Amino acid sequence: MESGNISSSTAQVRLFLCLKDNYGVLVHDPASGATAAIDAPEAAPIEAALTASGWKLSDILITHHHYDHTGGIRDLKQRHGARVVAPRGEASKIPAVDETVGEGDTVTVGTLPALVIATPGHTLGQVNYHFPTAKLLFAGDTLFSIGCGRVIEGTPEMMWQALLKLRALPDDTALYCGHEYTDANVRFALTIEPDNPALKARADEVRRQVAAGTPTIPSLMGEEKRANVFLRADDPTVAAAVGLAGKPAAQVFAEVRRRKNNF
Ligand SMILES: [Zn+2]
Repeated sequence: MESGNISSSTAQVRLFLCLKDNYGVLVHDPASGATAAIDAPEAAPIEAALTASGWKLSDILITHHHYDHTGGIRDLKQRHGARVVAPRGEASKIPAVDETVGEGDTVTVGTLPALVIATPGHTLGQVNYHFPTAKLLFAGDTLFSIGCGRVIEGTPEMMWQALLKLRALPDDTALYCGHEYTDANVRFALTIEPDNPALKARADEVRRQVAAGTPTIPSLMGEEKRANVFLRADDPTVAAAVGLAGKPAAQVFAEVRRRKNNF
């Protein structure tokens, strides 16, 4: 499966599967020729995408330390000498790091600026990369289309605060996440919000995409804000649906996440 490629006025993106259900992605800056891999699940598909595009790898931007996001770093670094950028809090667990970043930092890919957003929860040091001019968000395992990452190292409160930061991004931001989980996410979300029209529309779209064998991402943040139950834990309908009407959003989020873990 390889498509989901987009071109904005400022950047080109190439998306492809790695491992079983991880996404690899390349971001290319035509102005400078720079190309970044966002995460490095596996070297071979990234090499194949570089060959197919004719782009030269200059940077590797890592979201978090899990092996299915970092396993390809050493081979890619050896072959291309690319700069490896990783979250400061997890750099000791990530190979071949050249530069570390944290909340509020800017990293550039050629002429393209990316703002670093700290999103602890799935892991404690996780960061996301937001390219404001290219209108791209690379959310690692923090936010998925109609889902979110498991809260492994942090707390539900931390994860909810991280998701609120992402929810503040513009509606026309394209969301690229670390995994193709959307079909299962939609089936779960419908158990909480069966009457949400935006979710039902997304469910129809995902059904068509799965049938056609095409990726379900990117999606747009505006769509996620309306349809993704994990971004909607402060909506009274969601609280009521999980029996927590009037309770704090972080508590509602925790309950929705707990149900998804058991889904
Ligand atoms: Zn992960």
